[in-house]
Amino acid sequence: MIGTPLSSSATTALLLGSGELGKEVVIELQRLGVETVAVDRYADAPAMQVAHRRHVVDMQDADALRELLRRERPDVVIPEIEAIATGVLAELEAAQEWPLRVAPTARATVLTMNREGIRRLAAEELGLPTSPYAFVDTLEEFRAAADDLGWPVVLKPVMSSSGKGQSLVRGADDVEAAWEFAQTGGRGSQSTRCIVEGFVAFDTEITLLTVRHAGGTLFLDPIYHRQVDGDYAESWQEAPGEATMSQAQLASAQDTARRVTDALGGYGLFGVELFVTADGVVFSEVSPRPHDTGLVTLVSQDVSEFALHARAVLGLPVATTRWPGAAASWPVKVEGHGVPAFDGLAEAYAVDPSVQVRLFGKPRVDGERRVAVTLARGTTTTEARDRARTAAQALRVSLD
Ligand code: AMP
Repeated sequence: MIGTPLSSSATTALLLGSGELGKEVVIELQRLGVETVAVDRYADAPAMQVAHRRHVVDMQDADALRELLRRERPDVVIPEIEAIATGVLAELEAAQEWPLRVAPTARATVLTMNREGIRRLAAEELGLPTSPYAFVDTLEEFRAAADDLGWPVVLKPVMSSSGKGQSLVRGADDVEAAWEFAQTGGRGSQSTRCIVEGFVAFDTEITLLTVRHAGGTLFLDPIYHRQVDGDYAESWQEAPGEATMSQAQLASAQDTARRVTDALGGYGLFGVELFVTADGVVFSEVSPRPHDTGLVTLVSQDVSEFALHARAVLGLPVATTRWPGAAASWPVKVEGHGVPAFDGLAEAYAVDPSVQVRLFGKPRVDGERRVAVTLARGTTTTEARDRARTAAQALRVSLD
């Protein structure tokens, strides 16, 4: 049953993290008549602009988070980011002071907020192929682990995402600089602990969006993506017949995704990140929530990853139909300080009738930030990618 927003029967969803992905989730929840509450550590975050209520809270502050949840008493908490005091979610989900659900489960958010939790689950409990790895707390341990794993290695703070503090380390000479960089890139006080991974020479990397819902598990078509400095620069879904992955690779990817998502449990959409190599599929990581590379589903499917997440989390069945061609997304980033303003939209739309633009409405940029995305379809992957890129290049972002 779904009630009426702002009435005593309301079904309420509280988002922890209110970025561009959360904004799309809120819009989908609104369409289903859900009362939405958007939370983030800064004011006027994108999802706050479309939610019924908003709160500015440091979500890593356990006491502040507990107090907010007790005040709001939402039916469901939907984490949109990793940097949350997830222990509080586990505590309140277990205590059931009111009928609270965490999407997909509190345990999934605890395990995936830290690279160590999910890596140990995937590699050591489930026995899935991953890159070889070690966890290190000091420069000396890092040196020893890298020697052991063999060069090159990838160094990442365990509490980090989107390439923050991450580097590809080619040899012993680069160890100190990489370690220094990792110390500044993590989040929270435990930023020193890192994972060192052996480099996987993959043919391609994908996000396999996987939805656990009331009717079972749904796999979406693989999303291919290109990463620059650990952050997504472009993503696409192929037209049928282009088939970069073989049927066997796809089956193996789905098997891996099913095992990981079954272990995390609950209802919701997961972004399972996989490396595809000639020797098989290698598990990288998983987000128990919509994935940035999945922005492409806003044009590739009639029900996007955001709508699928909203439906699954509410306990509803899900299904979607693919646009029969290819589709692509191209995030637009800007660097500097100020309030963004956009020009060149007419030129972007003129690239092709399939082009769509999402301006996230981020209130301010300090450093480098993703502020928009362009989306396009095409008969082939090349055509869709060209259109999304050309549309993105037509946009001009100024910071005032
Ligand atoms: P992550 O934040 O772990 O998703 O890493 C971001 C990106 O860095 C991945 O999507 C890959 O392109 C690259 N990467 C991360 N780990 C490895 C690895 N062990 N071997 C090769 N590339 C990697």
